[in-house]
Amino acid sequence: MKGENILAWFFDLDNCLIDQGQYNKGAFRLISDILNKELGIDANLTFKRIEETYKKNSMEGKKNLNEVVDYFGIKFPIITETGKQFKSLKKLVNYLVTEGFHGYIPEHLEPYEGVFDVLKTLKNTKYDIQGEKGRVKVACITDGNALTQQRKVIAAELENMFDLIQYTEQMGNSKRKSAAPFIFAADCFGIPKMHYPYIVAVGDNPLTDFKYPNKLGMKTVRVLTGEHSEKGADGVYAPDYTINGLSDISEIKF
Ligand SMILES: [Mg+2]
Repeated sequence: MKGENILAWFFDLDNCLIDQGQYNKGAFRLISDILNKELGIDANLTFKRIEETYKKNSMEGKKNLNEVVDYFGIKFPIITETGKQFKSLKKLVNYLVTEGFHGYIPEHLEPYEGVFDVLKTLKNTKYDIQGEKGRVKVACITDGNALTQQRKVIAAELENMFDLIQYTEQMGNSKRKSAAPFIFAADCFGIPKMHYPYIVAVGDNPLTDFKYPNKLGMKTVRVLTGEHSEKGADGVYAPDYTINGLSDISEIKF
């Protein structure tokens, strides 16, 4: 890698810098405990069923939780053991998502091997593009519930590793649906459109991470880590480069 050819790096968070499964495990545990406390359902049984359902479906959390709770055959409306009232399955699932999935505060999340070294190295690199010199900028851009994502960043001790951390939800954006998060980060770093080819966007999910950076003319790198690593990536969803893990980033010849 010739770091001096790159002005800025935009990193995804989940399954790129940290294993989302680590967070999910803790959140599933909390959801199981809540169902146990409120409805007396065995926490280990719930936990096992949530894990199995997520593995089988690999889709959005709400639908999975719906399937899990539906399995227990709860009759609605119901008043729980602590006096909470739920009129429908949907209301109970919404409660579990808010209090359980997003209410979970991880104490510590371990980033993937080599993450700190890679980020430190990139941040300490000087670029020299057509005689214009400066320090390379590094951003983290992440979709999803902003508070949850912020807790992950803190638990992984990544909060001081970036020049910019952008929680796209806070701005009503998402990487999946719009180029705005990438343009915003470039603007923050004062990088004009003509220099977008000197920006690298790194992520794991072909559905969210490469389409808009590709369209903007940025370079894209896919890391084959986490639950999306088996997904196909064609056309505009395809990255320019693919690596097995973040530590391999130094081997890319841009
Ligand atoms: Mg990701």
